[in-house]
Amino acid sequence: MRPIQMVDLKKQYQEIKADVDAAIHEVLDSAAFINGKAVQDFSKSLANYLDVKHVIPCANGTDALQIAMMALDLQPGDEVITPSFTYIATTEVVALLRLQPVFVEVDPKTFCIDPAAIEKAITPRTKAIVPVHLYGQAANMEAIMEIANRHGLAVIEDNAQAIGSDYYYKDGSSRKTGTIGTIGCTSFFPSKNLGCYGDGGAICTNNDELADKMRMIANHGQKVRYYHEMVGCNSRLDSIQAAVLNIKLPKLDQYIEARRKAADYYDQAFAGHKKITTPYRASNNKHVFHQYTLILEGINRDGLHQYLAEREIPSMIYYPVPAHRQNMFAALGGNKFELEVTDWLTERVISLPMHTELDQEQLAYITTEVLAFADKN
Ligand SMILES: *Cc1c(COP(=O)(O)O)cnc(C)c1O
Repeated sequence: MRPIQMVDLKKQYQEIKADVDAAIHEVLDSAAFINGKAVQDFSKSLANYLDVKHVIPCANGTDALQIAMMALDLQPGDEVITPSFTYIATTEVVALLRLQPVFVEVDPKTFCIDPAAIEKAITPRTKAIVPVHLYGQAANMEAIMEIANRHGLAVIEDNAQAIGSDYYYKDGSSRKTGTIGTIGCTSFFPSKNLGCYGDGGAICTNNDELADKMRMIANHGQKVRYYHEMVGCNSRLDSIQAAVLNIKLPKLDQYIEARRKAADYYDQAFAGHKKITTPYRASNNKHVFHQYTLILEGINRDGLHQYLAEREIPSMIYYPVPAHRQNMFAALGGNKFELEVTDWLTERVISLPMHTELDQEQLAYITTEVLAFADKN
């Protein structure tokens, strides 16, 4: 059996090595390392794939969120509603820009921000909502957009874990996640569903004015070189990374199917188990399984993690400390938020290996060992 990885980037690279190597060499030969043709091509292809008007490539997913928030002209102290049950980047940029994070609950089934909790958290200072499509499952965007529109709030989708997912509206129409809110942000960190071989990110929007502004912000606030209209930053997607993404984007749907097949295998193996809850799949979106995350009840989670590790099966806790309990947010009153569902989930979730290269033998081994521990403990 091949060694099991949380994410098997080596094996995936072997499958596309010839194309990737050629694309990287083309960039080397052109010496257009910054904003070269590969970057332009990728932006167009991604806009086409997502069916969105503007794609603004940038240096990473965290920058994407920061640039999006900078473009919305938020003032220090303005409130931004976000889940606490997420990767730190979502909430960190809020504090970095001297805005006030308002942490709200997630839905215990989908792991995504709870629209009812958003509604309750809105105050006259609220300016934006940041739903996170956690683990590859979309937040309830139809409800969130309804609330946002009613209160005149911007919506920034954190799509770092769900690129390629489809969101299905009640009327039967659909849209790609990341293109529903005012602005969508994503990351091409190597382990993401569409990952490059270093850092990378992108912002999308259908709003021309915001697109223009975000392009300027990502480029030192300039449109004309050396004439700086506003304070910006330096955030670019390298041509070499774009070249890798140009090879991988056409395979994204196939990669998603491979993840969903692995998830199906896990689901079947754990179906009906009293102590194991498999990931819920809401009917309003296509789960793209960035992570395959179980909820354990009546099983010692750290014991399971250790037991699996001894059998060379990696597992991870995403995330061991929710944002509102991070020291980072102590000065912003993080601990005053009472988030029972978030705390409950934080103690019970565990993510199993999930990537495009998992084979039946590996899946059989992982599930057998998880069940062996669950039935003994
Ligand atoms: C990965 C990730 C980010 C940040 O992306 P980077 O490219 O690592 O900066 C933001 N939000 C979520 C939910 C993520 O998973």
